[in-house]
Amino acid sequence: DSAYDEECDYLFKAVLIGDSAVGKSNLLSRFAADEFRLDSKPTIGVEFAYRNVKIGDKIIKAQIWDTAGQERFRAITSSYYRGALGALLVYDITRRTTFANVKKWMHELREYGNSDMVVVLVGNKSDLAQSRQVSEEEGRNLAESEGLFFMETSALENLNVEEAFLRMITKIHEITS
Ligand code: GDP
Ligand code: MG
Repeated sequence: DSAYDEECDYLFKAVLIGDSAVGKSNLLSRFAADEFRLDSKPTIGVEFAYRNVKIGDKIIKAQIWDTAGQERFRAITSSYYRGALGALLVYDITRRTTFANVKKWMHELREYGNSDMVVVLVGNKSDLAQSRQVSEEEGRNLAESEGLFFMETSALENLNVEEAFLRMITKIHEITS
């Protein structure tokens, strides 16, 4: 696969975190799309996909890690976070508990993650407006108070998915280059 083998100027790792069933895996498969190559390390319960992104004249290969369902058992280990420069912290706008748990995920990020990790708070399932339990303003306020970027997405309708990942990737690029 040529996209995968293409020379890149930078390679970096980012992680997906958030409660079970908020849509992490669907967001990743949307983003990775045609350049999708899912790989897994069953022993530690992670999967990851690559996507090349062009910024200016540089090619950045983003390696995005997904949990393979380990979050259900709160069994995500420090190796998941090791070396990650960015994270998408995802909640489901139709389930308030997943929003309340954002604080727990932030705590875990602070414990295991890089201190200067770029974090985007993502309110997913924006297509389900009629079942919304968390307003966009609440999401934005939380992000602001925690120093995170913020975006609402729909993996189902492919709304803002590209934007959320690219926000993270371009910011990491700014910091590291
Ligand atoms: P994960 O456990 O966080 O990886 O969540 P999944 O990606 O497996 O998605 C959990 C469920 O939510 C699945 O039934 C998906 O089809 C559904 N889902 C994911 N994203 C969206 C979305 O943006 N809108 C809607 N309506 N459903 C979604
Ligand atoms: Mg998943």
